[in-house]
Amino acid sequence: MENRKKRTHHLILASHTNLKFKETLPIEWGAKDPLQRGPVVASMTDNKARNAIGAHSGSYTVYRAMSIASGKFPPLHRPDLNNTQSPVPLGPYAQWNDPTKIVSLDPWGLDPGIHFKPLFDKGYDIRPTIAVTQAHLQIPEISQAISQGRLKSDGKVVLANGDVKVTKVAIEPVWYLPGMAARLGVDEGDLRRILFQETGGMYPEFVTRRDLKVWLPPIGSTTVYIFGNPLDLSDSKVTLTCRVHDECNGSDVFGSDICTCRPYLMYGIEDAARTAQNGGVGLIAYYRKEGRALGEVTKFLVYNARKRQVGGDTAATYFHRTECVAGTEDARFQEFMPDILHFFGIRKIHNLHSMSNMKYDAIVKSGIEVENRISIPDNLIPKDAMVEMEAKKAAGYFSKDGAKTAAGLKKVRGRQIDE
Ligand SMILES: [Zn+2]
Repeated sequence: MENRKKRTHHLILASHTNLKFKETLPIEWGAKDPLQRGPVVASMTDNKARNAIGAHSGSYTVYRAMSIASGKFPPLHRPDLNNTQSPVPLGPYAQWNDPTKIVSLDPWGLDPGIHFKPLFDKGYDIRPTIAVTQAHLQIPEISQAISQGRLKSDGKVVLANGDVKVTKVAIEPVWYLPGMAARLGVDEGDLRRILFQETGGMYPEFVTRRDLKVWLPPIGSTTVYIFGNPLDLSDSKVTLTCRVHDECNGSDVFGSDICTCRPYLMYGIEDAARTAQNGGVGLIAYYRKEGRALGEVTKFLVYNARKRQVGGDTAATYFHRTECVAGTEDARFQEFMPDILHFFGIRKIHNLHSMSNMKYDAIVKSGIEVENRISIPDNLIPKDAMVEMEAKKAAGYFSKDGAKTAAGLKKVRGRQIDE
């Protein structure tokens, strides 16, 4: 492939013609050998080699476009992947070779420079969609757990200064459309048509290029924090404490007290670290699915509607107000959440920190055994978050102490506007 200096200004609309180029590599999803599976090629430096719909970096594609348009970003830049590889040799695991177990990420997107070296040598621009690194966490709640004696520094997982050592993994979405459709139990053609329509026609290839089966959606990525040895995750005999957490920026980062997201997340981190200290392993998966994947604007509108309604913000009407504003009470589709767990070769979770039945059901249905379910301790629930907590219990979320009656739910009240 020639090394051009400028990207062409000539536009190729995928709907013009059948654009099968001889440089395009086939993808055989689930094939055992990475070279037989084939790399996902979605970079823009050589249009003729692309074998996927969409572009790298999820939602950041748009920022890249702005940067290129402003002249600050060289459009034909290729990443220098020297020394970027994972510090731990993750995989391959049996789940990587099952085309039905993982459909929303590309396991071979980790260190493609190693797995697809012969193709790199031929000049293909293959980019990682997964990256692994190591870090120290400094968290006020963890310092508190140490000072209150719930967690001790051991010099390995928790250091003398209170730092928690972790391995962290960033995973961009790579969707295999036939597998996504099968998981949802819908026709692939219907899924492609609705994706085309609901993105305002952003990707004509959904309908014109049925031969392209992989899409890199412009959505947020997932980050995984691992406590202890990441290679132990695939050993079902090693105790695994796990929390699958959906982003809630208001609580997770800013400490807003209307929900239990940060306290539950911190409790999960504390327990994950403790499990690693006791010879097990901990995993926190952080999914960018803000406001039950309805987004923060919808979420804030719902907060106002809850606070202003006749009778005040009560647990009895919690889900109803979300559905009135958003059209559904939840758009998260936990069906694809376990793919991340399968990427690490997980077969058994000993302690699952989640009260959500949708998450539990999705994990178990995907073939992962769950031994214990851990709900958030009552003393960690902020007062204003009792509305959410009691409503969730009444809707069937897992809890050891059961749900309140209809009359009881009406009595669980949150703050009004301006309070
Ligand atoms: Zn929250």
